[in-house]
Formats: sequence, structure tokens, C-alpha cells
Amino acid sequence: MSGSGWSHIRYDHKSRPKIVEVLCPSCGSRAIASKPSEEDRKGTIVADLSPTFRIEDWQIRCTGCAYRKSNLSYKDLPILYFSGGVLDLWAWNADHAECILSYLKGEDTSKNSYHWFMTYVRGDWKKSSSRIVKELDKMLNKRSHFDS
Ligand SMILES: [Zn+2]
Repeated sequence: MSGSGWSHIRYDHKSRPKIVEVLCPSCGSRAIASKPSEEDRKGTIVADLSPTFRIEDWQIRCTGCAYRKSNLSYKDLPILYFSGGVLDLWAWNADHAECILSYLKGEDTSKNSYHWFMTYVRGDWKKSSSRIVKELDKMLNKRSHFDS
């Protein structure tokens, strides 16, 4: 996905998860982006009406190298780790990717905390669901490979 694709996702959404997984600018592994101001918050999703939404205290911590960064604004975050591939696939993080995966497999996601985001699952992803499922599997496996 291009940088403009990520901006599109970023500004078209009135909410986002507390944890966003991004591509480490240093080594390309999965890096965790989160905000200290939201650490004590319950729940997975933060809406833009939340007072913490615009605080520029994003932190990035890479799972693959020593890369760390703090006090970033939302727009300074690197591109999403789960992005690119066929049909500009993207997911906020692994849990979201797994939710899309089960949704496209026709499973019931209504109890999943990412269920609300399933309204954003694009028509062309549904139409090519077998390709998307394969692509998501690949991205998720790449992650466990890096983690191990
Ligand atoms: Zn790294």
C-alpha cells in the first residue's frame, strides 16, 4: 500500500484500536504503536471523541530490533504492518486481521471486538475472499516467523 493509502485509512476512520501494528522503519519487522495516555483504558477501540485521541504521545516499539520512538503524532506513524499485497489489503493489527479472516471465511464475528470494523471490509475483498484469506494467512505467518 502506498503512503497515501495509509492516510486515507487514517483520516477516514472515526475510531481505531488502542494498539496499531506498524512496519518498523529500521528493520521491517512488526512494531507496536500505542499511547501511554490510553494504557489504563478498557476496551479495544478508541473513538475520535475520546480526549486521548489527539494527544501526540504515540510510542513505537519494534518486536524485531531495538527501534523505539515516542511522542509521535498519529500522522507520524509508519505504514501499517498488515498492508499491501493484493487489493490493498490492510488491518490495524493481528487481531483485526484475524477477525477479517474469519469474517471472509463466513464465520460469526459478532462477538469479536473488531466486529464493528467489518463494515469496512471492501466488496472486492469479499468477491476475492479466497485470495484475501491466502494473503492474510501469509501476513499472519510472516508475523509468527519474526516473533519466534
Ligand atoms: Zn525493527
